[in-house]
Amino acid sequence: MDNLTKGKLVIISAPSGSGKTTLVNYLMDKDLDLEFSVSVTTREPRNNEKNGKHYYFITADEFRKRIRKGDFVEWEEVYRDQYYGTPREEIERIFRKGKNVLFDVDVKGGINLKNIFGHKALSVFIQPPSVGELEKRLVLRGTDSPEKIRMRVDKALEEIKLACRFDYTVINDRLEQAQKEIHNIIKNFIERQDE
Ligand code: ADP
Ligand code: 5GP
Repeated sequence: MDNLTKGKLVIISAPSGSGKTTLVNYLMDKDLDLEFSVSVTTREPRNNEKNGKHYYFITADEFRKRIRKGDFVEWEEVYRDQYYGTPREEIERIFRKGKNVLFDVDVKGGINLKNIFGHKALSVFIQPPSVGELEKRLVLRGTDSPEKIRMRVDKALEEIKLACRFDYTVINDRLEQAQKEIHNIIKNFIERQDE
């Protein structure tokens, strides 16, 4: 990672349904010079998702080949048979443009990226006000089957226990309040001069 020394890295992790995508979209429009790191996944695209913008959608075979080639900084089987990985090339591409990287990754991936990049990275955990509210949001979002929602809620119970491994936790209860809070945290980090 010697050539990846210029920009900063912001890692956002949360149990599915906490409002992470909503907050990430909000941050992308702000004055933070952030560019989204597009992950690779083997899951099916949702209705509105575009290849190369939201994810790079590939087959499980291709994914395994890319693991062997060492293309990923980190990767996880986030749900059974659904693989997600952060390509090294994404980070290099964003740093070459002189921008800061924004990651939207699962909780284990967030902890791994923080361990890899240390003080150049800021990790933020988005927490729902309760697991009941998280389930309600997933149902209202209408993108996942009842079985998938059950899987995501079960996983959330485990993930919330790992919030203490992140630099900051933001509770996404009232959206506007959470937006303000996360914006301030990231702005302070980006503007901070270390070294
Ligand atoms: P994630 O990316 O963490 O899975 P999303 O951003 O897709 O979560 O949010 C899940 C659902 O909850 C979406 O329908 C979103 O519009 C809604 N949502 C996000 N934040 C809030 C909030 N503070 N209050 C109520 N609903 C919210
Ligand atoms: P979704 O299927 O809802 O888009 O994403 C499911 C989970 O996978 C989310 O928690 C999301 O942040 C995570 N995820 C997306 N890309 C990556 C990645 O590259 N690495 C890891 N570890 N998790 C990812």
